[in-house]
Order: sequence, then C-alpha cells, then structure tokens
Amino acid sequence: MSQNLKVISPGYAYGITFKVSDYTKYDIIAKDKNVELARFTEALKEASISLDGQDNPYFLIQKLILTDPLLKDGVNKLILRENLTAEAALNKTIKKYEDQILNSNSTYLQERVYDLKDMSQRLINILVDKKYTFPNKPFILVCDELLPSILLEHVNNIQGIISKKAGYMSHGAILARTLEIPFVTSSLEIPSNIPLIIDTRLNKIFLNPTKEQINNIKKLKKQEMSVDIIPHEGMLLLANIYGNEEIRKVKKYGFDGIGLYRTEFVFMHNNRPLTYNEQLNIYTEAVKTLGEKTFCFRTFDIGDDKQIPYLQAHKKGFLNYINNKEMFEDQIKAFINANLYGKMKIMFPMIETKEEFNYLKSWVLNIKKELNNDKPIKIGMMLETKMALEHIYDFTESDFFSIGTNDLSMQLYHLDREKVKKIPSKYIIDLQKKLKDVVNFCNKTGKELSMCGELAALPEATKLFLEIGIKNFSVSPSAFKDLNETISKYLKNINN
Ligand code: PEP
Ligand code: MG
Repeated sequence: MSQNLKVISPGYAYGITFKVSDYTKYDIIAKDKNVELARFTEALKEASISLDGQDNPYFLIQKLILTDPLLKDGVNKLILRENLTAEAALNKTIKKYEDQILNSNSTYLQERVYDLKDMSQRLINILVDKKYTFPNKPFILVCDELLPSILLEHVNNIQGIISKKAGYMSHGAILARTLEIPFVTSSLEIPSNIPLIIDTRLNKIFLNPTKEQINNIKKLKKQEMSVDIIPHEGMLLLANIYGNEEIRKVKKYGFDGIGLYRTEFVFMHNNRPLTYNEQLNIYTEAVKTLGEKTFCFRTFDIGDDKQIPYLQAHKKGFLNYINNKEMFEDQIKAFINANLYGKMKIMFPMIETKEEFNYLKSWVLNIKKELNNDKPIKIGMMLETKMALEHIYDFTESDFFSIGTNDLSMQLYHLDREKVKKIPSKYIIDLQKKLKDVVNFCNKTGKELSMCGELAALPEATKLFLEIGIKNFSVSPSAFKDLNETISKYLKNINN
C-alpha cells in the first residue's frame, strides 16, 4: 500500500505511537446563550492560565491572540446573533480569520493559519473537556495536523512526527527542522500504541518493525550524531540560526560561531514590536550561551516573503529601517548592550549602494556613542543584491561581507529559494566567476568574507567557492556534517 510520504523534516526515529486527533464533535445550537457566553469566557481564562510561565515566544503570540478583545467580541456576537454554542461560534470566527489570511498574497501569513488553528484547538479541547494524557516517555506523535504547542510542550519526548497534512513552511514544520525531529506527512491510518520507525532516507514508515530494523535505525541515529571535525585552520565553519533555541546545537556540533542570526524571526513570533528590554534579554542570552565565539547579528530583514504581522513592509531593503526608525534603534541599542565580549558583528541585509550602507553604519555608530559604549564591534553587510555585487569596490566602509546566495541567485538568475537547491551547474560556475572580484577586493583591503546562503551547503558549489579563496561558510546546523566533509575532501585534495 502506498504510504504517500512527504518529508517535512529529515531523519530517523523509532518509538511507540501516540495519536491525537483534532476537532472533536460538539453541539452547534445553543440551549442557553448566557451559558455559552460564560463557558467561552471561562475557556479563554483557562487557556490563558495554561500558558502562564511559558516563555517561548510561540506561546506569547498564542496568549496575545487569546487576550485580544476582537476574538472575544467576535465569538460573543455570533453566540448572541446566531444562537450558536461557544465551540461553533469560535470555529466560525476562526474560519473567517483563516479565509482572510489565506486570501493574502504572503506565504508567511498563509502559514500562520496553523498558529491560529493551534490556539482554537486549545480552546475547543477545554470547552469539550478533552484532555490528552501524553506519555511520560519517548513517543512518536501521530496527528491530523501538527499543533506547534504540542511539539513545544513535549519536545523532550517526541522522537518523530507523522501528520496527515502539513505546510513545509508552517510554524510546526520550521520548529521540527530546527529541533531536528523527523517529521513526515502520510495518508496512512496509524493507530496509537504500536512500535514504528520513520526513515526519511528510504522515504518509508515501518509499522511493527523487526528487531533488526530497530537496531539498524538506532545505529544510523548514532552515526548521524557523531562528526569528526577536521582541522581547518584559517577557515571558519559558522551557523545560520533563527532563534536562541538553536544555539545549543551550534555548540554541540562544534561550529566556530554564528555567521547569521536572522533576527526578523524573533519579531515574527509576536503581534507587536518587541521592546528594547525584551530584545536585550534575547540577544544577551544568545551571546552568553555561545561564549566568546564570533557572533553575527543581522538587523531585521523584512518585506517580500518575510512579513511581520504588525508592520507594512513592501520590499526587502534599506527603506524598512527608515520607515521603522524606532524599531531599528531599539534593536541596535539591544545589540550594542548585549556585546558582552566585544566580539559582536552587526550586518545589514539587501544593501544596494554605498550611500545606504554608510548611512546605516553612521546611524549605528551614533547610537553607540550615545550609549557611551566602547566595546569593539564590527559593522558589515550582506552581499546579496546584483547592484552591490557590481559595485563591490565602492564599499570601502564595510568591515566585512557575507554573501547571501539565496537573494543573489534570485536577482542574477531568477531562481527562487526552492530552486536554488537544484541550481544548474552553469549558474554556480557563473557565480564563481563573479565572486572572484569580491575575493580580490577583500584580500587587498583585509576585509573578512564569508558565505551564508544555501549554496554554502551545497557540496558541488562549496568546492568551487573554496577554489577561488572563500574560506568561511555559514550554514544551517543540520548542514554541518556535509560542510565539514566537503571541506575535509577539498583540503585532502590540495595537500596531495
Ligand atoms: C540569502 O539571501 O542568501 C540569505 C542568507 O538571507 P535570507 O535567506 O535570510 O534572505
Ligand atoms: Mg537574503
């Protein structure tokens, strides 16, 4: 029988299944409207209390939705006007929000539907008094749709996830990849309480596996974890991260530091701007956790496919800082005050001209002066626009460059992010040619150069970039092993 598997997060997992099903049956027509109004108020309170003490930003956004008066008003109106039960009124209200979001052109917003469903499921479970008792030991989660809150609450026990459907960029999917938990979708009907293996290498699920299969998967899991880091003097193997929760992996794998912290994701968890203090806490914790290793924060990179619910940003780039002055200044202040070891780097994305770069750099330096902060800090830029690449010699003020091959491939070859993974060789060769000037410029001026787009993790491409003298690469933690191997092969070859 076809398993119809789609891999959302790769890996191997073995465990006993635990199945949760969404959306429970409930009455539609209210017997007593006042009872329904009171039930809904109580459910809101209970849901909100259940999130107390959870400091993950994901739960903060759920709490904000729960306490939003618009939600309560919307549901109450439906109870009164259409004589609905609290569950039915909630479902109808959420459906209306979902339709609005799905009609937007933003993939980011569309994927947020899962967050909304997660919150509404939490409320419905309270209303129908359906409470799952999750196993207190490792298990494989089986569900219709992954609710990120379940993943976060049981992260230490969830070995793998199988759901009927999932968006690749949904919050749950991103989280599963971040936490390196194997996650597949399948149309198979899988019961609770059976032993099961997920093996994304074979693109298969094994129900009731044999002893041999279990041992095999355990062995593969072990191999997956062990990396012999090759000596790589003069080179840096760096990590791209989205949030503080990834730093533990960065340390575990033995990365030399963080080459790209995509800070816009820290903002996306909320429906209001983070305050200076909230940001200071997040960045300080990050710097402290990593210690004295190199750490590069990128200022929030919003627009196009990356939208923040409470901000209007049409295109990615410089103007977003001018249009969101206060947010930029709060972020810069928080970075500067979190620079505990004087090792911090700050970089700006999507820079096109030297005027843009110089303007932002002076802005940062003025803030630093106002704060009386004398810790060293390097200020650089992403090299990810065609215009900046063509005028690389203009950027004499930038302390360093980080090549963003995702946006660059889009601008140079019209390849979107998904297609970059299967980039034709002719484009890699062309990019290699174009980047020679950048390497020369950096060598002459002593500026640091690294690469942080997806191509840094594609062995065929990394090899060509190593050949022209690019020595520092920043990749997602899950690509560490491949990068380490590619560099090891390259070094062996040139030494023979
Ligand atoms: C890039 O464009 O290559 C890059 C690393 O930035 P992001 O993927 O966050 O746009
Ligand atoms: Mg980019």
